[in-house]
Amino acid sequence: DSAVIQGLKDRRTELQSEYQESLKIYKPDYPKMQQLQQQIKFMEHESQQLKLKLSDNRQKLMFDTLTGARSRLSYEEILGQEFSRWERYREAFSFAIFDIDHFKNVNDRFGHNAGDKALRIVAELMNKHIRKTDFLFRIGGEEFVLLLPKTELQHASPLADKIRNSVGESKFHFKQEQLKLTMSGGLTTVLPLDTAEDLYERADKALYEAKQQGRNRLVTLTD
Ligand code: GH3
Ligand code: MG
Ligand code: MG
Repeated sequence: DSAVIQGLKDRRTELQSEYQESLKIYKPDYPKMQQLQQQIKFMEHESQQLKLKLSDNRQKLMFDTLTGARSRLSYEEILGQEFSRWERYREAFSFAIFDIDHFKNVNDRFGHNAGDKALRIVAELMNKHIRKTDFLFRIGGEEFVLLLPKTELQHASPLADKIRNSVGESKFHFKQEQLKLTMSGGLTTVLPLDTAEDLYERADKALYEAKQQGRNRLVTLTD
């Protein structure tokens, strides 16, 4: 009777709404899916762009913007790599520090822009004389490091001297005036018990001696 009919009606309404619910769950929402796919694509593109930007920034950090020589950061990294190679395979490398002589005078007499220009020219000259496998860093104001992988002192020495000479022999012009720049250098090679600091300190000591002996020269230290 009516109670039974009412019961059946209720059950029918229940089933209908269950059916509607199930449609909601299983019916693919194509516009929504397309929208999500678009979003994924966009995010992939964004992350690709970010990756490119990161490696671009990294590249920029590895080079000195003034001279184009490798940066201080790059120096730490490559010296570390070279040390690992040395510890593992005993592949000796040579190491030199160059410092421009009386560079303060250049700035004082000609101004900071002239000093900057001189730094660029010096780096360019030095770069001309090294091989693709060698590394030139600007590690400080007017200090450069030359790292020569797989190069023993007997070969490093004439090369370092040639580089130093190429700077000493070139003429620079600043507003009509001619100016001569010279460089002093300290050269050494990696020794069995060396740390990176030992190597640097020995080259720096050699550089100091070159300055003491009158500048515009190369001093080599091997112990
Ligand atoms: P020394 O022969 O003993 O090396 O004398 P120096 O004058 O070269 O040495 P000092 O270290 O006293 O002076 C270095 C000068 O280099 C100080 C500063 O005027 C100059 N300098 C350092 N970095 C830069 C730079 O990026 N641009 C310019 N224009 N000058 C710089
Ligand atoms: Mg200096
Ligand atoms: Mg100097």
